[in-house]
Amino acid sequence: MALASPHLERFDEWELVVVDFARASPADLAAALKDAAGLLVTSHVALDAATLELAPQLQAISTVSVGFDHIDLTVAGGRAITVTTTPVLSDAVADLTIALIIMVERRLREAVDDIGRGVWSTARLGSDVRGKQLLLIGFGRIGREVAARALACKMQVCVFDVRPDLEPMAGVERVATLADGLARADVVSVHVDLNPATRHLLDDTAFAAMKPDAIVINTARGGVIDQAALTRALLEHHIGGAGLDVLEDEPPAPDDPLLALPNVVVLPHIGSATTETRRAMLDCAVENLVACMRGETCRHALPIS
Ligand code: NAD
Repeated sequence: MALASPHLERFDEWELVVVDFARASPADLAAALKDAAGLLVTSHVALDAATLELAPQLQAISTVSVGFDHIDLTVAGGRAITVTTTPVLSDAVADLTIALIIMVERRLREAVDDIGRGVWSTARLGSDVRGKQLLLIGFGRIGREVAARALACKMQVCVFDVRPDLEPMAGVERVATLADGLARADVVSVHVDLNPATRHLLDDTAFAAMKPDAIVINTARGGVIDQAALTRALLEHHIGGAGLDVLEDEPPAPDDPLLALPNVVVLPHIGSATTETRRAMLDCAVENLVACMRGETCRHALPIS
């Protein structure tokens, strides 16, 4: 994402260095990070322990995302580096989640593929979303927005979340265990952050517990789903389909079998990709970094130190 000029002006008090992490040589990266007090990055920049070691002066990391799995929080917390996020994208991601649910249930990929092959078929029947049981795994900012939209689509909504103090929502039921939710769901949608406890949360066992026509939606992070297990479950018809905005490896190999399955919709990680939302994210990230650099309290700082 290119920084537009009003954003550059916000950094007048400091020297600004722009680095392309993907293309910079190790020497250029080390030189750029050596004196860096603040970093503004997207979720595609891996700030692992080795990279953070190159930035001994670092006080703040402002990521243009709500996901923070690309940052080593143990190192950041240990060095008292403030990490901030941009929680201004929940509507955009929730919209895309509902779009994926409807695309898969109504078999829209097959319809669009038909048109591309010159076939005009009115006989391909999808399935209503009305009355379907939606399980949301993770009932945070995005999960709650998905629930509101799903209720408007007349779906039944239940949630599984590990937080004990979950604020209830009218019309939304909380399930006691993930297994309970998986067994009754027609649509399973993932909205947890990626961390060691959520990595491969949906695996062979989870897919075996689901109804054979249930569909899986992932707009969170690819690593939450064991993609090899998902591929097996789809190929062996243990589940009915999938809608994925995120994958374990992005971009996927061109011969990844998931891409060829007609009941699977894959999108290139575009959950927040609207002009309005990306602008709001960048504004938020710049304000976060400026606040941190001035030693002010930032309300979007993660509670890590
Ligand atoms: P959030 O922190 O508000 O919500 C996450 C919820 O998951 C919390 O309520 C938490 O208690 C719950 N959770 C954590 N571990 C769990 C577990 N093991 N089982 C059940 N629940 C668990 O975050 P959010 O703003 O709703 O965003 C969720 C995730 O969506 C982000 O972490 C990010 O990875 C992803 N995301 C993707 C895109 C995209 O472009 N596709 C865009 C934005 C965010």
